[in-house]
Amino acid sequence: MAVYDPKSPHADEFINHEEILETLAYAQAHKDDLDLCRRILAKAHPNVAPKQEHCTCITHREAAVLLACEDSGINAEIKQLARDIKLAYYGNRIVLFAPLYLSNYCVNGCLYCPYHAKNRDIPRRKLTQDEIRSEVIALQDMGHKRLAIEAGEDPKHNPIDYILESMQTIYSIKHKNGAIRRVNVNIAATTEDEYRMLKAAEIGTYILFQETYNRARYEELHPTGPKSDYAWHTEAHDRAMTAGIDDVGLGVLFGLEGYDYEFAALIMHAEHLEASFGVGPHTISVPRVKPAMDIDPDTFDNGIPDEVFEKIIALIRIAVPYTGMIISTRESQSVREAALQYGISQISGGSRTSVGGYVEEARPHDTEQFDVSDQRTLDEVIAWLMQNGHIPSFCTACYRAGRTGDRFMSFCKGGEILNYCHPNALMTLSEYLVDYASPKTAELGWSMIQSELAKIPDEKRRDLCAHNIDDIRNGIGRDFRF
Ligand code: SAM
Repeated sequence: MAVYDPKSPHADEFINHEEILETLAYAQAHKDDLDLCRRILAKAHPNVAPKQEHCTCITHREAAVLLACEDSGINAEIKQLARDIKLAYYGNRIVLFAPLYLSNYCVNGCLYCPYHAKNRDIPRRKLTQDEIRSEVIALQDMGHKRLAIEAGEDPKHNPIDYILESMQTIYSIKHKNGAIRRVNVNIAATTEDEYRMLKAAEIGTYILFQETYNRARYEELHPTGPKSDYAWHTEAHDRAMTAGIDDVGLGVLFGLEGYDYEFAALIMHAEHLEASFGVGPHTISVPRVKPAMDIDPDTFDNGIPDEVFEKIIALIRIAVPYTGMIISTRESQSVREAALQYGISQISGGSRTSVGGYVEEARPHDTEQFDVSDQRTLDEVIAWLMQNGHIPSFCTACYRAGRTGDRFMSFCKGGEILNYCHPNALMTLSEYLVDYASPKTAELGWSMIQSELAKIPDEKRRDLCAHNIDDIRNGIGRDFRF
């Protein structure tokens, strides 16, 4: 039997099934101990946590106790603490991105995904480099600066060379004032050599969702194809980090398995990356299974209500305070509105989940990976963020200045967000307002920028930021960053 070891390179040891079951039993045994819950919450308080060296503030066992606790007072404290941590470490910025679906060819048999190989009804499509160019121009014309590329796994149709060439194409397009400055990649688990190639092609974050951490359930849900190998998939982030990719993203597809199991394992995965590589995950995504062609989420029987979903988000924020958290347009406006308060730091906007969806006028639903709940345009999302007190940010500075991996984490822990990320957010928002915003959004934006400038603590930096923003408005300069 595998023994729990957070530093082990073997999936069954760092995501150890027995340790998860013991964690869940411990959580059930202690969930009514309100003093313990308060002591755990106190450990994660922003006044205490910045002095800590690790990416995690509380252990997976402690986090599991909080998740199991049903006390309404503790649950209110959890949400408040998540809000406080969010503001202390991230401020009120929200980073924007869009997914770009390159190809839906796939050889895997994932039961929850419409791209599965046996789906004969879905039209298969792979973008040519010219089509990618058109998609990227459409995305740049919306105002996007950061993309996450998505593809099914298919060595024949989507080999690594295709992904690399596509990244090169995306980075090369400079349409009007547009530019994609960071390309994150969400493709299937691959070899260390291929991760090295992605690093050389200037990948932003390598994102790979675990789907489910429960090996038995994983094997049921992935009956065929290379993705059916649980260890290969679960150890992929290790291979990516060994190959030099500093920023890796984790995620669970909530709804496939019991959420308490997934949550404990997700925190264990973060602990493992920290123990093995000295740096935790750069991001954690929280997708929930959605309806799609050939897919009915109810068949998985583990759907989580919005309230539990919000609590999970708040607890991830508390347990792993320096890790960015991503929510996509799988979720509705109202769910996203709540999630933003409890710790989400990145959202997608104006998304299409179909191959070629940004160019084609009538939305081609037939190649979609999942139904998009939040169908608003990027401009509407930007206005809504500002109306809710969030600064929309198109910043990609950390990655371009080499502040990735542990350098980003120590920057974040050192409390530099207000002197760097905050002005960078305001400057990139200014570019958006000048180039792409509707008059209503622009009006909201310029007034927000005025009041937010005052929050930059360092006077010189504040003045320089204001000066740069004037230059952007007057068309004299752009792409400034701290
Ligand atoms: N093909 C790559 C892989 O297998 O990891 C990644 C790309 S896939 C396009 C991105 C993610 O979409 C998957 O990891 C899965 O979590 C999610 N997904 C698949 N089907 C979904 C559905 N019906 N609802 C919501 N998300 C889904």
